[in-house]
Amino acid sequence: MSVHLHKAQRCPHCGHRLNASSNAASDPAAPVEGDYTLCVRCHEVLVFGPELQLRVPKLVELERLDPETLKDIATARAVLRSVRGDADGC
Ligand SMILES: [Zn+2]
Repeated sequence: MSVHLHKAQRCPHCGHRLNASSNAASDPAAPVEGDYTLCVRCHEVLVFGPELQLRVPKLVELERLDPETLKDIATARAVLRSVRGDADGC
């Protein structure tokens, strides 16, 4: 897993300050527009927009997620729940 730092911004769901993301896949690629991520505090799904600005995904985007991505989201949420105490200190 690799960690990518980016401009600090607030989670549009809960307002938590986010300034980094990590890649769930073994591929160390940096996030690009259209990639999905989760807020480390509220665990809601976010989408990287232009210039990696985080936004709430549209309902139609969530409905179109493939089974593999849904599985990745569920796995990432389980990991975040297991380390929640550490994550809240960010
Ligand atoms: Zn949040």
